[in-house]
Amino acid sequence: MKVISDLNQATLVNRSLSAVWHPCTQMKHHESFPLVAITKGKGAWLYDEHGNALLDCISSWWTNLFGHSNPKINQAITQQLERIEHVMLAGFTHPPVVELSEKLAALTNGNLGHVFYASDGASAVEIALKMSHHFWQLNSKPEKKKFVCLENGYHGETLGALAVTDVAIFREAYGSLLQDVFTVTSPDARKAKASESAEDVAREAANALEQLFAKEHKNIAAMIVEPLVQCAGQMAMHSPEYLRLVRDLCDRYQIHLIADEIAVGCGRSGKFFACEHAGIWPDFLTLSKGISGGYLPLSLCMTTDKIYRAFYSDQTQHGFLHSHSYTGNPLACAAALACLEIFEAEKVLENNIARSQNLATAFAWAKSDTRIDHWRQQGMILAFDVKSSALKNSHVFPREMFAKCLNEGVLIRPIGNTIYVMPPYILSAQETEQMGQAVQRALNQVING
Ligand SMILES: *Cc1c(COP(=O)(O)O)cnc(C)c1O
Repeated sequence: MKVISDLNQATLVNRSLSAVWHPCTQMKHHESFPLVAITKGKGAWLYDEHGNALLDCISSWWTNLFGHSNPKINQAITQQLERIEHVMLAGFTHPPVVELSEKLAALTNGNLGHVFYASDGASAVEIALKMSHHFWQLNSKPEKKKFVCLENGYHGETLGALAVTDVAIFREAYGSLLQDVFTVTSPDARKAKASESAEDVAREAANALEQLFAKEHKNIAAMIVEPLVQCAGQMAMHSPEYLRLVRDLCDRYQIHLIADEIAVGCGRSGKFFACEHAGIWPDFLTLSKGISGGYLPLSLCMTTDKIYRAFYSDQTQHGFLHSHSYTGNPLACAAALACLEIFEAEKVLENNIARSQNLATAFAWAKSDTRIDHWRQQGMILAFDVKSSALKNSHVFPREMFAKCLNEGVLIRPIGNTIYVMPPYILSAQETEQMGQAVQRALNQVING
């Protein structure tokens, strides 16, 4: 048993590097770039194996809403664990999935009253794409099978979701496996020329979309968007006007609108659903990440009665015969219900107004820093870009900044030259201020001037 005793002497990090293939990582970079072993979390803080504290400024990849080891969510999961941990959802149901579906439907005022479950975000996107495609077959329009997506959009990394994703680094190696889509210009407000507003950019992007719809609508099933913030696309933000215009175009040309709220839903944008800023509802809305408070894998696709009815038939094959083993897992649904209760009991959306103002104050220094461009904020997401003239080496910048931030006690993962924060909804004003200063100190060590 020599191997095992050797392994026990190796550090946790080294054992991880030899046995765990980490996501979204060139493993060789870990020769110089730290891998951090986390052994505990409490509130907004993570603790590494040596007891060092790290402020989780990006909510553990945008999932955590109410802190790590939250007593209310812990209790809800523990109570559910005593009743039933899991049961298949085909032919069976259970209290947490029923209650969660009813509560989510009520949050859309009944506009999206049918909820289909999966585990990861990408699967929820696959479900929306497949449902749209199948709907048109059921309505004798099988030629409506192409999807429209936005330049710089991100919807996950399974093959269907990756096909509607426009982030080169994720797509490149797999291009030949992906179906053809129409990619249209992004309404990214950073494109605004001197005299233009974000609304102008939105109208121009919608005009380009209309040209495509006018020509190709007979072949198009659905358009997919990330409402208000293209998060993986460097936190590119746009005006809600774009969503209103797209909703209108989709109605006029009989094209489904899929709102991927996996990152921007659950209060992240300032309202529970980002679409509420535009006063519209999509035909499909996907949620994941924050829905379980960052506790357990849970994703879902909500849709309208009209779409649900189209599948309701005496014929088996007209049903939506899609499934995942852990669909609607009771523990994950119990965590989600606990989160919705916290939203209500603690008036989270109201209190987040002050929290987002604290964020703006903590990063006010970046607004006046001449090395920084495009300071922007949407609710509990704040981002800005480091000008290329200030970067010493743009390839290593994200990793260098991450490492310097670790030394300053904050977890930050830049995307390209974009620095962003997306913290859980529990930071005190003081912690928020501490975060802003730590990021500034780290940045000053990494960039020129
Ligand atoms: C993260 C993300 C996904 C994919 O979710 P996974 O759980 O990582 O599969 C899809 N869409 C958006 C907008 C996301 O941010």
